[in-house]
Order: sequence, then structure tokens, then C-alpha cells
Amino acid sequence: MPTAETRREELKAVWRQAQGCTKCPQLAATRTSVVFGAGNADADLMFVGEAPGANEDKQGLPFVGQAGRLLDKLLDEIGMARADVFIANTLLCRPPGNRDPLPGEIDNCQDWLFRKLELIEPRVVCTLGNFATKLLRADPATGITRLHGREEIRRIGPRTVRLYPLYHPAAALYTPSMLETLRADFRRIPELLALPVPDQPEPEEAELVVPEPELVAELSDPEPEPDPAQLGLF
Ligand code: URA
Repeated sequence: MPTAETRREELKAVWRQAQGCTKCPQLAATRTSVVFGAGNADADLMFVGEAPGANEDKQGLPFVGQAGRLLDKLLDEIGMARADVFIANTLLCRPPGNRDPLPGEIDNCQDWLFRKLELIEPRVVCTLGNFATKLLRADPATGITRLHGREEIRRIGPRTVRLYPLYHPAAALYTPSMLETLRADFRRIPELLALPVPDQPEPEEAELVVPEPELVAELSDPEPEPDPAQLGLF
């Protein structure tokens, strides 16, 4: 059983590898930052959004714009803060012009997400919106309108978690009824966190499931250290 400290160190190593990812040449060419995700490296609660937007790309941190402020507010309403949770996205890089992630990009990026899940070991994973929900449920046909607020136990790569789909805060920003639904769904998070950790797959089996994300491009410069703002959190 790796300790929280070992998992955190490994997460930092994965952070460094991700900085050089060029699996999606268009995104690698247009991004300012690889937005790996940030927060508590041993969080019980993890959020998975869609993809960085302009603010996130600029700052290298997830959910720092208007949708992020709403996420902070919703967390505060249930007595939690950003530093208690880990926040990631389906994609590490901003799609130009904030277009939707392409299926090939989601495929290319999924191992990074699975590796984070493996190392952080959250009990509850909240998917925010359609892209993360469809990816982590491996069901492209069923959308968030049907699924939000319904928890299920799901095997995701090497971990079994309580998956809890929620509306994306950016969608709720402009639709008051959706915001009220998101708020009501959020209120159930503490209850889900208090449930027992779901049974986990056998470790040997898990190792077969998620390969280390491959580093496509060798870094010419020495590997960067995690940004202090990110390190401060994880
Ligand atoms: N929307 C997302 O899905 N992710 C972010 O990081 C910001 C906005």
C-alpha cells in the first residue's frame, strides 16, 4: 500500500511528464500551459471538468474563471474549500477558441486522468458536465441531464469510486434552474463522502489496466518543477 507521501511524490513526477505532452499536436502548439489539475494530492473528493479555458491556460490552474468562482461558492456552501479537493479536467490543454474537445483528444488524454485517480485515490469523483461524465462512465450515449445527482459505483481504470455526475458550473451560471439543481446535487456530497470506500480491484489486476502515460516528446530542457501555486496546493 503506497503512503500518501509516496503517492504525492509520484503525482509530482507525473506533473513533470505531463508538461511535455505532445500527443495532440494542435493543442500542444496553441496552449500556453498544460493544466494538470491542482488541489489536495490525497483528496477524498475529486472533480473532473471539461477542458481549460483562456484563464486556466494563462494561469496553468483549473477552474480559475467565473465557473471556478461558482465551484468555490458551492464548495463553501457544503463546508469545503478548494484545498480539500482535487480539481482536474478531461483535457490538460485548452482547445483553441474553447471549442469542444475532440474524441481523439479525449482518448489521448485519458491516461493522464486515470493516473491521477490511481495516485490520489479519491472516494468520490464528481464529473462536471457531459464530457467527463461520458468518459468516466464509458457511455457516450447517456448525457448529464439524465444522470446528474445519481451516484453509482464505477471502476475507472485501476480504482473503484463513487461516481457522481453533476451539471457543469459554466452551464449553471446563466440558467437559474440549473444552478438550483446543481446546488441541491452538491448538498448530497458530504453524505456520499461518509459512505464506506468501495471495494477495490486486486492490485495486480489494476497494474495491467492503466499503463504509465507515455511521454511522447523528450524534453530538451530539464524537467520543470511544479509551479509554486500548484505545489502549494498539492
Ligand atoms: N471549465 C472547465 O471545464 N474546466 C476548467 O478548468 C475551466 C472551465
